[in-house]
Amino acid sequence: MLGYTLFATRWLQAPLYFGLVVVQGVYVYKFFNELWTLILRCVSGRATETYVMLSVLKLVDVVMIANLLIMVIVGGYETFVSRIDLTGHRDQPEWFSHVNPNVLKVKLATAIVGISSVHLLQMFVDVQHTAQHSLLWGTTIHMAFILSAAILAYMSGPMAAHADRGHAERPPAGPEPARPPQAEQNHGDQRHGKLEQDAPAATPALPRQPSPDADAETRIRAAGFPARKLLEDFDQQHPRGLDREVLARLGKAEFVTARRNVVLVGPPGTGKTHLAIGLGVRACRAGHRVLFATAAEWAARLSEARAAGRLDAELAALDDYPLLIVDEVGYTPIDAATAGLFFRLVAHRYERASLIVTSDRPLGRWDEVFGGACAPAMVDRLAHHAELVRLDGDSYRTRRATSAWAD
Ligand code: ADP
Ligand code: MG
Repeated sequence: MLGYTLFATRWLQAPLYFGLVVVQGVYVYKFFNELWTLILRCVSGRATETYVMLSVLKLVDVVMIANLLIMVIVGGYETFVSRIDLTGHRDQPEWFSHVNPNVLKVKLATAIVGISSVHLLQMFVDVQHTAQHSLLWGTTIHMAFILSAAILAYMSGPMAAHADRGHAERPPAGPEPARPPQAEQNHGDQRHGKLEQDAPAATPALPRQPSPDADAETRIRAAGFPARKLLEDFDQQHPRGLDREVLARLGKAEFVTARRNVVLVGPPGTGKTHLAIGLGVRACRAGHRVLFATAAEWAARLSEARAAGRLDAELAALDDYPLLIVDEVGYTPIDAATAGLFFRLVAHRYERASLIVTSDRPLGRWDEVFGGACAPAMVDRLAHHAELVRLDGDSYRTRRATSAWAD
């Protein structure tokens, strides 16, 4: 309770972010002010080449600081106050997913390096008017920024790996324990058919599916996937520690026939939903009916059934679907009654039908979501016959932006 209260104080930060929004406004004003002066001087012929260059650099500087601001505002708000759901928004920036503090720090540091390079360039352009000690200090400070950015970037690697070890969960002793993830960080581009073309010979390519027949298409449409994502389009180089053999095996959809579960765990943006849908599509093509919904949607559906006194009937009706997908466990808080409903779902399907569950936190921390009373028994059943797939690394959505800043 005390913890919750303390955690709730994060909302005290919210006005700070709106304050920063006001600062954005100030920068917009500054920008146009500067631009207007530049235009006036150019038109009146009073602009020397050096002046134009300095002015443009100043404008670039203002824009870069504004970029930095928006990153702090959106990224910070998202990380420390409340999630912003931009999923599906056409303007959702690549770097925006649920940015984690590590990524944010590195990005800020690189942004600062960018800004300080612009400043240094300004000094060099106007070298006659710059005192030597300013130049010296400018260069030294710039070097210090570069060094600290490099250190941060370097540390975010081991830090992520450390977090991984700290949170690493293993299923309770089952017939088939999950394999240890192989550390791998290799950012490739997403290209269609990349798997088949680029996968090293040692790793089995995911089996190609026969062209989907009409029934499969009907099942895919009925499954309620939020988007059409294919396993074939999944860039296996991206998430760190992805066990490709496991993925290749799962792609055959035999886990559905075997009534086994799949648990996809990883930080936001590492492709959990993509993989869950991809596996769901494969299951549809293999002849199984599939239903996809987020944990929040499942919660609503089951609560409604319970309120109408037909929870058992609903669970039995869901038996018609050999595969249910529960996306985003842990993203929204769950009260004790709803946690009980999830337990009923998992217990009902145990050794009877399959579940794919995605979560941003390892099973060992599910008590944070479902409460200490419910979580252990549920995790035990879920993980007993389950393939645990751990995805790690930076968000796929943010990776391009990150490398752009670093360049
Ligand atoms: P998560 O559910 O883990 O938050 P998503 O599956 O929603 O992440 O992935 C975010 C976006 O990035 C999606 O558009 C997804 O298709 C894409 N994506 C993520 N990982 C990969 C990958 N390895 N290869 C191709 N696209 C990916
Ligand atoms: Mg997701």
